[in-house]
Amino acid sequence: MAPTKVHVLDCGAMSCDLSWLLLKPGRTMRSRADRDRPVEWYPCTTHAVLVETPEGTLLWDTSCPRDWETRWEPTGLQEFFPYDQVSDDQYLDAQLGRLGVSPERLDYVVLSHLHFDHAGNVNMFAGTGARLVCHAEEQKWAFGYEGAFNGAHLKADYEGLDFETVSGDTEILPGVTLIEAPGHTPGTMAMKVDLPETGSMIFTSDAVYMGDSYGPPAIPAAIVNDLSAWYGSVEKIRGLAEQSNAQVVFGHDAEQLRSMRRAPDGYYS
Ligand SMILES: [Zn+2]
Repeated sequence: MAPTKVHVLDCGAMSCDLSWLLLKPGRTMRSRADRDRPVEWYPCTTHAVLVETPEGTLLWDTSCPRDWETRWEPTGLQEFFPYDQVSDDQYLDAQLGRLGVSPERLDYVVLSHLHFDHAGNVNMFAGTGARLVCHAEEQKWAFGYEGAFNGAHLKADYEGLDFETVSGDTEILPGVTLIEAPGHTPGTMAMKVDLPETGSMIFTSDAVYMGDSYGPPAIPAAIVNDLSAWYGSVEKIRGLAEQSNAQVVFGHDAEQLRSMRRAPDGYYS
């Protein structure tokens, strides 16, 4: 049996005002001396993770869709987060294709949460036999509002799909644990993968946007559903990372993502 491997799929970047990701005095929040300085636009990178284990293959998150400009139109998000820093081979379908992985090969597609930039391609896996998984609280929230969208939840991404839900920290495959990390949304999860050579890796998704958010001290973002839960989740992740000496991979950190081994050439084992 081949040992577990982690492939990081770099799906390019949205462009956005950095204040969406980081409310940091001196950087995004200006002193009066800097009142006329223009806002800082940031390459809000988006990634997915393919985890191959001897007992099954799992995809973590599905990034943004190719038709983002029309699909996001009802929400207005295409103006704030244009998915415009992406090459043709960076879209999720192309990234999987370059690894020779067809949607039918996947046993699990796990969504860290159901925001538009994480659930954008989950419909690609409907009817493939892959089990679609999210947190129970995320399902409740994402299907529980009236109308087509609510903030960054967009029903067009996931309506009509059947999700299996998890609650509590859940080992979904040997050495692959889904970590409850609410706050960004009610059912946000992180994922911890234990690897024989690399050691442990924790993929935070939007529980922690970037290295600057992690601190310490933790720095929140503009989109937080429950701020006190968010702080609790960051410290939970920090505790787990310290215990397991894990490498922590943030949800939207351009500099970090670009410094990592990325598919199809590199992987972690
Ligand atoms: Zn999000």
